[in-house]
Formats: sequence, C-alpha cells, structure tokens
Amino acid sequence: MGMLKFKAAQIFDGHRLWENKVLITQADGTIEAIVEEAAAGESVRHVEGILMPGLVNCHCHLELSHLKDVIAPHTGLIEFLCSVVTKRNFPAELIQEKIKEAEQEMAQNGIVAVGDIGNTADTAAVKASSSICWQNFVEVLSFTDEKAADAIIHYQSELNQLKQSLSNSSLPHRSNLVPHAPYSVSPETFRRLNEATQEQVISIHNQEHPAENELYQQGGGDYLRLFKIFGMDRSPFPVTGLSSLRSILPYFDRGQTILLVHNTCSTQEEIEWANEYANKKGIRLQFCLCINANLYIENKIPPVGMLYRSGSPVVIGTDSYSSNWQLSIASEIKTLRRHAPEVPLETILHWATLQGARALQWDNRLGSFEKGKKPGLTSLDPEAGTSQRIPLSLASIS
Ligand SMILES: [Zn+2]
Repeated sequence: MGMLKFKAAQIFDGHRLWENKVLITQADGTIEAIVEEAAAGESVRHVEGILMPGLVNCHCHLELSHLKDVIAPHTGLIEFLCSVVTKRNFPAELIQEKIKEAEQEMAQNGIVAVGDIGNTADTAAVKASSSICWQNFVEVLSFTDEKAADAIIHYQSELNQLKQSLSNSSLPHRSNLVPHAPYSVSPETFRRLNEATQEQVISIHNQEHPAENELYQQGGGDYLRLFKIFGMDRSPFPVTGLSSLRSILPYFDRGQTILLVHNTCSTQEEIEWANEYANKKGIRLQFCLCINANLYIENKIPPVGMLYRSGSPVVIGTDSYSSNWQLSIASEIKTLRRHAPEVPLETILHWATLQGARALQWDNRLGSFEKGKKPGLTSLDPEAGTSQRIPLSLASIS
C-alpha cells in the first residue's frame, strides 16, 4: 500500500538508538512504525550511517551567508562584532545568491527546521520557496531608551515583510521580535519586547564573552570599543553589580520560551539560578550551543558537560557563515563529541532532533519517529561529521 521501508546499522528515533530495526513510513514520509527486521518483509532500502529524524538548527543567521571567509578565525568576539557591523556594502544580488546557497546546503544535509536570526527581511524570498520550517527571530538592537519606540517600529516593519512573504506557505513558519544581546538592548527596549512576545519562542545571545558581565558589573570593559562605532563614549546600560544574565533575564515574565544562545562564560551557579528563576516566573529556558562558532571566534568551548550534568534542556545551532566553516548540525555533533566525550551520543542526537523541535515548538510534527509525525529522514555519520537528507522518491523503488 505504498509504504516505504528503511534499515540502517542504527536507527535513532529521537530518544534512543536501535539496532536490527526497520523504519516504515507512508509514501509522503509520515511515520508508521519501527518494527523488527524479521517482520519488515520485502523492499527494504538500506541507509548508510545512523538513520534519524531531520535535524533542527536552533541558531543561524541566514542573511549573513555572504560573510563566509570574510572575517578571519580567532579574532575574539569584540573585534568580530566590530567587523560585522562595519563590513557593509555587499551587492544585493550576491547577498541573495549566498542566502540561496546556504538554504540549499542546510536542506541537503537534512536540516528540517531553523531558528533564524535576521535584522532585515533579506531572506524572505528564499524562505518562501524553502522546504525548511523557519522560526524567524527578527532581532532588535536598540542601545538607548530614547530609541526604543522607533527601533520597535523599524524591526516590526521588517517582521511584517517576512510574515507577508511566508503567508502562503503550507509550512508552519513563525516570525517574531527578539532582543539581540544584553550589550545591545536598553531597559525600555527589553520591557517593550517582553510585552510584544507573550507566549512566543524568542532568543538572545547570552554571555558569549566575559566583558558582557563587566559591562553590567562595573559599566566598563571591552564592549566600549563596539559602542564607539555607534557614537557612544560610555556604556548606555545600567550598572547593576550583577552578571549580564541576572541583569536581563528578569525583564521576561510573559510565558516565553527563551533560547539562551552560546552561554560560553555561564557558570553552574548562574545556570541553576536561571533555571530556578524561569520555573518561578513561568518561562521556559533552552540552552543553545554553537560550539564551532565559539571555536571560530574565540577559540573557546562552551560548558557542554556542565549543562549536561545540570539536566538543563540543550539544543544545537550553527550560528552564521560569518563565524563558521559550514552550516551543518552533523559537524556540530562531531565537535561536541570531541570536546565533551562524557556526554552520550544518544543525548547529543536528542539535542539535535527532538529537543530542538521542542524548543521551536514544532515537536507535534518534527524531531522523532513517532506515528503520524513527518519529521524528515536524515542519515548521519557522526565520526565524519556529515549528514544527508534521504529523499523519499528514490525509496519507492522496490
Ligand atoms: Zn548568533
């Protein structure tokens, strides 16, 4: 009855690895069952590597794809940010071409959903004909309270363009405003964003560099170099005497799911505090790791083992082509395994699939091989750090 059957050395179902099993789907990829190999019958297609649900990339900046190989590795974050904000004037056609290439790369390597940061609507046309589910995070930068109202109006218009372009798609894309980082969003802007994002999935870059804490603890530090580019001689932010995370998380209390991205300098005590705060306030936190980007920019690794041991929900992102060699969750998996060998492979695969789908609130259709879901099929070689989307059409050959 048009069923498709797949076997592999191992099948990962979103939770755990299985051997000697066969995955059965309907012709359109809707999951039917996982059965014993002996009970699968004929016309079973063999897949190389680990057969698993489509991968979820929780943090990307598709619109920066033209910055591939433009900023050298290991410059340090502050120098990197200064480069990103000053390297402008790329031709619009080149920007579109690189966005398209990056979208195709992700689709081909089996990524089925992306949490994608943008300051513009440059990606709208490519996303409108994409097979990937896009959670668009339209990122607000607004250094001072005086600019808060205008900034929200400006980014809301980018957001409306994205929404409009994607409104005819059959995929459940979503678009909403998010804060960029503790070092680029003023208190009034944070308060307005809290009101504007009730019950939504949002994201914020968190503690990517130690100077972020210094900014809130003493009002000084390396970020002053970035502010100079924007014409500010002093930090525009309140000195709270607290870390950046403790200073900004309390702005949020409207039932949001918040992806905290990077967490490179976050301590165990802070993670515990943040999880407790979130519980108390009815918000949900997801800790997003972008380990290749951390290696690219700062040559640092995030606290992977600590997050794992604390039982915190972890998801994975590639970040952008301005700070990565490829947009591949498989490559992130390989690097995570090398730097955090204490974390079981099953756990990392779970982060890359079902946990990512939960974070983006698409676990009703993506992230695991459960009957009725249509999560996409991917083959993964975790040693090589490569993955591929498995096309369904080839599979219908008996
Ligand atoms: Zn980022």
